[in-house]
Amino acid sequence: MSSSKKPSFFAGMIGMKCPNCRKGRIFENKSIFPLGKCLRISEQCSHCGLKMVSESNNGPGINYALTVMLLFLNLVWYWPIFGLSYKDNSFYYFLLTSVSIVILAQPWLMRISRVVYLYIAVRYGSRPLPANDK
Ligand SMILES: [Zn+2]
Repeated sequence: MSSSKKPSFFAGMIGMKCPNCRKGRIFENKSIFPLGKCLRISEQCSHCGLKMVSESNNGPGINYALTVMLLFLNLVWYWPIFGLSYKDNSFYYFLLTSVSIVILAQPWLMRISRVVYLYIAVRYGSRPLPANDK
């Protein structure tokens, strides 16, 4: 185990860890359930003390971009499996499927967009890390 290794950017982002130390959690709840609390962000990182609430107000714009991206990403698996053609209704079925997936993924998308925003706003190690974390 090499604990001195810098945690990777993507692992931290996917794991929704603090952008500064990549150890503390960004959200109070690990899972998106209960949904009512899925966007509750820890006021401060439990590990390095980074203030997260004040720096995380710009999620909606990123959320919109991710939503549109996911709509198109669904093409990647839907097209080969079900096929798309303008001759029948398959395009409408695709839109229906894709939109449902995006709606179902919305709690997760809203979380990850806040994470992405934090990662843009705060660089790794840009704030002082705790002394025991070298
Ligand atoms: Zn932290």
